[in-house]
Amino acid sequence: MDKNDDIDILICAKTAGMPRPVYGSIRADCLECKSPVWVSASGQKAMNGNKNLKPCCIECANEKMKDEKDIKASIVPGAIDELRRYFMKVEDN
Ligand SMILES: [Zn+2]
Repeated sequence: MDKNDDIDILICAKTAGMPRPVYGSIRADCLECKSPVWVSASGQKAMNGNKNLKPCCIECANEKMKDEKDIKASIVPGAIDELRRYFMKVEDN
């Protein structure tokens, strides 16, 4: 087991907001709202190593973290670039 085995949700960008994800990303459904989200290659790897880890869109992750103080959310290294791009795009609008 690695250090990441306490991760519960994997924060992912919705496909709707990001038509061109990082190479190797796959579509998955948000744990909460079932919106399609992108799971990066590193995210897929993290999920393979942890059966409790589920993809969750940014909005639902925010809500969950507000409601449940003990929820553990994590961003895998490969997702940082995706999120950065996602938020840069939001700022541009
Ligand atoms: Zn969601």
